[in-house]
Amino acid sequence: MSLKHRCIFCQIARNEAPADFLYRNDSLVVFKDIHPHAPVHLLIVPLKHIRSINDIDAADAAIVSEMILTGKRMAKSMGIAESGYKLLFNVERGGGQVIFHLHLHLIGGWK
Ligand code: 5GP
Ligand code: ZN
Repeated sequence: MSLKHRCIFCQIARNEAPADFLYRNDSLVVFKDIHPHAPVHLLIVPLKHIRSINDIDAADAAIVSEMILTGKRMAKSMGIAESGYKLLFNVERGGGQVIFHLHLHLIGGWK
């Protein structure tokens, strides 16, 4: 089995593993974090398998900016844009990353 076939976020992105999806297009998916750290905790995940922010280059600029714009839009649609939220990349083990497929956390919903 290849690395990509074992990657849980590749499987979720390909609909081969379940998730609570909120949005999907040709380049990324958005689904609920299975262990939420806040009332709203979504993951914005590119379909392309990229290990971490350390592995992006200029060719990935479009997807990274689309992830951030999607985070902004999802915050609005979840009703937390005004109250505020975090957009967070954990990078490698020392940065708290445990799933080695690039993802942007959208965290918020505190009163
Ligand atoms: P990291 O620490 O790598 O930045 O974040 C990975 C996140 O993915 C964690 O918050 C964890 O709860 C979430 N997660 C891990 N496995 C799954 C899964 O199979 N499904 C979903 N929906 N979330 C997951
Ligand atoms: Zn992957």
